[in-house]
Amino acid sequence: MSAIRLGVIGWPIAHSRSPDIHNAALSAVRLRDWRYQLLPVPPALFGEVVAALPGAGFRGVNVTIPHKEAALTCAAQTSETASAIGAANTLTFLQDGGIIADNTDAPAIAAVLPPTIAGGSALVLGAGGSARAAVWSLWKAGAAEVRVWNRTAARAEALCEALGGSAARQADPADVLINCTAAGLGNGEDAFSQLPLGADELTRYGCVVDLVYAPGGAPIARAADQRGVAVVDGLEILVRQGALSFAGFTGVQAPLEVMRSAARAR
Ligand code: NDP
Repeated sequence: MSAIRLGVIGWPIAHSRSPDIHNAALSAVRLRDWRYQLLPVPPALFGEVVAALPGAGFRGVNVTIPHKEAALTCAAQTSETASAIGAANTLTFLQDGGIIADNTDAPAIAAVLPPTIAGGSALVLGAGGSARAAVWSLWKAGAAEVRVWNRTAARAEALCEALGGSAARQADPADVLINCTAAGLGNGEDAFSQLPLGADELTRYGCVVDLVYAPGGAPIARAADQRGVAVVDGLEILVRQGALSFAGFTGVQAPLEVMRSAARAR
């Protein structure tokens, strides 16, 4: 019998930990005929490849940079969350040929927010796709105040107009700080030189959620941890969004602890 296939589409995608995480989960729940693989697909081929995947035995795919917006438009059905955010990270292929687009980044972020966010305040750094998911999740979790700072201020203003919140020019204290920027990831740059706050100012936040993950730990999560601030790192968000996608693809509850161990094994 040929394998039932899942995968992650991105460009580039070689660095992705999703195959490790999902194959460990498939094995743990004894879905022995299922395989999860990398799908390196450049933007120009995205629509064509997605259309061909169900015929090649695929039940679903995760979608990452730079395809999350294209993923929304290629599906006949979109979840309320994906439509509100304007981006999808999960495509599920139905038996009748239909495609459902969903966004599991947002509920994954909502799941890790501390209880203090209900009626509390948050500062989101960034205004890209993951920042939109973060703002959506903050409102869902009952935040009373959401501020958004971005290097390109006009994008923060546009995000707030679409999803609510106010654009910030500086980093005021808040109950939760969510980093959704790629600051510090390239060319050995100092992350804080590109942000509106220094490492010591992280202590002005009750909890720091850093969506970024990097070998050896991402700079903002590391700095917050060193200063005794409660931290949720990008690998935990990756595992949580993957677990929600896994359950949607397979109909089986995801083994969260197995996925967590696989994510941190390398
Ligand atoms: P986008 O490309 O949509 O947005 C990138 C954001 O980062 C923009 O706000 C951009 O600002 C900002 N940015 C980029 N470079 C710098 C810099 N040098 N200094 C300051 N700001 C910068 O990406 P996403 O929102 O999809 O992803 C953002 C990060 O979150 C990525 O590192 C991604 O890997 C991670 N992520 C992790 C997930 C997980 O599961 N852990 C899920 C989703 C994302 P500007 O508008 O000015 O260009």
